Amino acid sequence: MKLLNTRALVLRSQPLGERDRLLSLLTWERGKLSAVAPGARKIKSKLAAGVDYFTCGSFLLHQGKSLYTVNQLEIETNFSRIGENIKDYAYGMYFAELAEKLLEEGESYPDVFDLLLSCWGHLLDKKADRDVLARFFELRILSILGYHPHFQDCLYCGDQLGPFFWNYSSGGVFCGKCRPGEEVVFPFSRGTHALAVRLLSLFPGKIANIRAADLQKKELQDFTWHFLQYWTAAGHLKGLSFLAKVNNSEGDKKAGNAPE
Ligand SMILES: [Zn+2]
Repeated sequence: MKLLNTRALVLRSQPLGERDRLLSLLTWERGKLSAVAPGARKIKSKLAAGVDYFTCGSFLLHQGKSLYTVNQLEIETNFSRIGENIKDYAYGMYFAELAEKLLEEGESYPDVFDLLLSCWGHLLDKKADRDVLARFFELRILSILGYHPHFQDCLYCGDQLGPFFWNYSSGGVFCGKCRPGEEVVFPFSRGTHALAVRLLSLFPGKIANIRAADLQKKELQDFTWHFLQYWTAAGHLKGLSFLAKVNNSEGDKKAGNAPE
């Protein structure tokens, strides 16, 4: 009998038949994997409380031919209070969806595990600016997965003063002299450039100290979203549509009508 005892984060949890739930887990030892939580849809199930979004737990998994089965679990940290605010919920879901889309099965990603755990913690803590936190999450997961955007100087001549420009295919920034003439480029304000450099090297515990102007956040968001599509082919991210909807609605509400 193949058993795996591992810390895991619940990236996705969906109903499977009348009784069970199908989970996408980010495990410490084996990275992303799918697991059935038998009976977890039943209120009296011992597994029910630990198979929701925003859970970090110790899971005992049985490895079957195509899927794992959850035998036991012990909740380590329950971030479910993230769901009390619909904006926090939308950001937390987006982080989990991005991790699930970008990670390959069968590889271990302890740095992504720590990143997601830390960013869920910041959502709960509510001290960090959510948009800055989202850009931090995007830039850092890209960097961990080998798509480190080159921000610190011009890709061609090494100029560090800027102002800088980026285009979809470059993977980094150019100064005004070296910007490719034949391709569409987008300007980065100096503040946005400084924000990007800072986020790429920041200790996660310091994210709550970072504030940014709306223009900087918008420019960096345009960059990361285009960069994600161009370099990782992340495809349609439901979390982004949900985030846009939530950010366009007024005020911070409870997550009443959030999608499963
Ligand atoms: Zn240059």
